[in-house]
Amino acid sequence: MTDTLTLRAAYVLPHRDKVIDGGWIEIGGSRIVEVGSGPPKTDRRRVIDLGNAAVIPGLVNAHTHLELSDLQGKIPPPKSFTQWLGHILAFRRREAGKPLNHAVEKGVSLSLESGTTTVADISSTGDSLRVLPNLPTRKRVFREVICLEPEKVSGVMEGAIRELSSLKNAAGAYCDVSLLSAGLSPHAPYTACTKLYLGCALFAQGSDLLLCTHVCETLEEVEFLREGTGSFAIMLKALNMLEGWRPPGMYPLEYLKSTGALKGPWLLVHCNYLSGKEIKIIEETASSVVYCPRSHRYFGHREHPFQDLLKRGINVALGTDSLASNQSLSILDEMRFLHENYPGLDPVEIFSMATERGAKALRLEEKIGRLIPGMEADLTAIELPQGSVGAGLKPARTIYERLLSPEARVILTMVAGRVCYDRYGLKKV
Ligand SMILES: [Zn+2]
Repeated sequence: MTDTLTLRAAYVLPHRDKVIDGGWIEIGGSRIVEVGSGPPKTDRRRVIDLGNAAVIPGLVNAHTHLELSDLQGKIPPPKSFTQWLGHILAFRRREAGKPLNHAVEKGVSLSLESGTTTVADISSTGDSLRVLPNLPTRKRVFREVICLEPEKVSGVMEGAIRELSSLKNAAGAYCDVSLLSAGLSPHAPYTACTKLYLGCALFAQGSDLLLCTHVCETLEEVEFLREGTGSFAIMLKALNMLEGWRPPGMYPLEYLKSTGALKGPWLLVHCNYLSGKEIKIIEETASSVVYCPRSHRYFGHREHPFQDLLKRGINVALGTDSLASNQSLSILDEMRFLHENYPGLDPVEIFSMATERGAKALRLEEKIGRLIPGMEADLTAIELPQGSVGAGLKPARTIYERLLSPEARVILTMVAGRVCYDRYGLKKV
C-alpha cells in the first residue's frame, strides 16, 4: 500500500467558494485520497499540522520565460516595447551559446518558494525544454518558433519537432513525462508568418500538444499588422527579417484566424489591445487568455480588459512573464497586485484565476487546480497573518482577504505528493 501523509491546517480551500474550517487532506503517493474536517481519521497516518495556515490548490503560472531568469535588473528601463526587445536580443547576442540551465533552475526554485506548482514556460533556445523535465515542478513547456519567410518554415518546424520528439513517452504522447506536458508556440503575429502558424496548428492536430502565442500585446503590433509601419517594421527590417513580407492589413487575431490555425482553443498570451471582433474570435475558439498583471504595468499598457472577458465567460489565467519585465516569479504577488489595484474584484475570482482557471488554460484541469480526491496532490500552504484582516466581511471572504494580505507567506509547496518547498522543516516533524 502507498504511504499516506495527512496535512492539517486551520483552513482548506479545495476550490472556489468552498472553505473548510479545521480541515485536512490525506495524500497517498502522488494523489489526493480524501479531504475532510475535524480530527484526521486514523492515527496510522502521518499528520503534519500546518497551524494557522490555509491549504490551497497549487498556484499556476500560465506564462513565463524561465530562460530569462538571469536578466533580473539587467535590462535598463525601456522607452518602448521594441526597445526592450532590442535590449534582450543584444544581451543574448553578447552571451551567445552560453547554456541557460542555471537561469531555468533559478526560475523553478523561485517559483516553488512562492507557492507555484505548475509553470507554463516558453523555451526560446531549447534550454528549458532540456532542463525542465529533470526539475520537480509540474510544467507545460512550449517550443517557441519564429519565421517570417515562408520558404524557411519547414526547416524551422523540423528543428522544433525533433526537440519535442525527445519528450514523447512510450505511448507516443507528449504529456505525462516527468510532470511534463508540451506545446508549440509560434512567437507572435509580428514574427510568425501564415505558413508557420498553420504548420504548427496542423502538427498539433490530433496530439496532446497545446498551442500558444503572444498576441495583441502592443499598439505597435496592431499598427505593424494593419499598415506594415511603425517601430516593429524598423526593428525587423534592421534584423533582415522582412524579406518579401507584406502586412495582412488586419488586427492581430483576425490575422491569426485568416491563417486557418485557429480551429481549436489556443493559449493567447497578453491580449492587451482587443477589438470587438477579436473578442468574438476568442469566444468562438474557446481559447484562454493569460494576463500578466505586473509585466503589463511595467510596459505601461492601457487597462487590461480581463474583467470584461471574464464576464463574457472567457477563461482568463494569470502569468508573471519573465524576470526581464517583472520583479518576481510569484503568482501570489500577482494576486496581491490585483487585490490592491482592483478593489471591486472578488478575491474568490483572483484565487480562481491563479488555480482552476490556470489549470484549464493549460488543459490540465482533470489533474490539478482543485483539491479533490483522485486529483494530483499539487498544493500550497500559506501561513495567515494573525488578527482580523478584513473584519466585517463574510467569514469565507475573510479567509481570501487574509490570504492576499502582504503578511501572508508560503510555508509549504507540494507537487504530485512530493514536498518541494518547506519553510519551517515541517516535513521532518
Ligand atoms: Zn512572453
